[in-house]
Amino acid sequence: MLGVSVNGFGTIGKRVADAVSAQPDMTVVGVSKRSPNHEARSAAEAGYDLYAADPDRVGEFGERDIPVAGSVGHMLAASDVVVDATPAGVGESYREQYADHDVAVVYQGGEDASVAPNSFCARANYDLSVDETATRVVSCNTTGLARAVTPLDEAYGVESVDATLIRRGGDPTQTDRGPINDIVPDPVEVPSHHAPDLRTILPGIDVTTTGVTVPATLMHLHSVTVSLDADPAASEVRERFEAEPRLQLITTASGCDSCADIQEYARDIGRPRGDVWENCIWADSLDVSDGRLTFFQAIHQQADVVPESVDAVRALAGTAAAGESRDRTDEALGVGM
Ligand code: NAD
Repeated sequence: MLGVSVNGFGTIGKRVADAVSAQPDMTVVGVSKRSPNHEARSAAEAGYDLYAADPDRVGEFGERDIPVAGSVGHMLAASDVVVDATPAGVGESYREQYADHDVAVVYQGGEDASVAPNSFCARANYDLSVDETATRVVSCNTTGLARAVTPLDEAYGVESVDATLIRRGGDPTQTDRGPINDIVPDPVEVPSHHAPDLRTILPGIDVTTTGVTVPATLMHLHSVTVSLDADPAASEVRERFEAEPRLQLITTASGCDSCADIQEYARDIGRPRGDVWENCIWADSLDVSDGRLTFFQAIHQQADVVPESVDAVRALAGTAAAGESRDRTDEALGVGM
């Protein structure tokens, strides 16, 4: 049984903790919080041992009747693997502490790629992280692109990827973000930072990405064009995508015409927090002309990196091969809508 801790019980951390606790071969050693807010209370109520990230604030937890089991150091000492889900850039500051406790670490995509020997997407390059001391799960957008491009590259060879990423302005609770009434090239520079990030996973592929931020919190929407080394029928590509558990084909006939429809469906079928772990690819948008494949996909930014983080734990621990880990994760979570 792998002992896993989660440093930073926020948007990603709480989802990873729940996903880890659903795995038959893992247990949650504990989770950490800096502030004694409602997330700290919900962690305690979910039965997780809660550790204080800031020793100077332990008293504040007590004042609010939120039990604390110790410091982050205590949590790390009892863990085989820690998933770092602290805010972007903070993970790096823990690097030395993780090494001192001899604990393997899964970082998230807000960290610079140099934080770990490799970046990680379970479908693309799991093996590179096997038995390593650290890896970095790439961002939600990069994960979505890597998952879709990898099977295409295996089947046909991919010459280039051009993607426009229509990005949500913020997560639902990020009320300080925006825009609230604008459509913003973000970043204005081309390519956006997503292209170099995707190359950390698929180094041989020519990638151009552009980003646009819109007033929405639900999901990201990608408009993707892939130049293939072959000219398959669209129906064949559809079948290849259908064979990938983390790619979900959506038909307009189902009435799922928008990101809001997808989220509503996820809530209706009882997904925890309405999470959509899969890339949602509109089947009707799939078209191939002279080897140029186009499609739209929706990516739930709060959820798609969660199964990847679970697989990254197994890769670092060396306890399962890539396919076996993905199957185990998907079965425990119920991936596939
Ligand atoms: P978040 O702000 O929702 O959660 C971060 C948590 O870390 C909070 O609970 C906060 O209290 C805690 N924290 C703050 N400082 C800490 C410290 N020094 N030590 C321990 N805990 C601390 O952030 P998030 O959105 O969950 O992002 C976490 C990581 O995941 C980032 O690298 C981010 O780029 C990446 N990511 C985020 C999303 C997304 O859409 N939210 C998607 C993919 C990847």
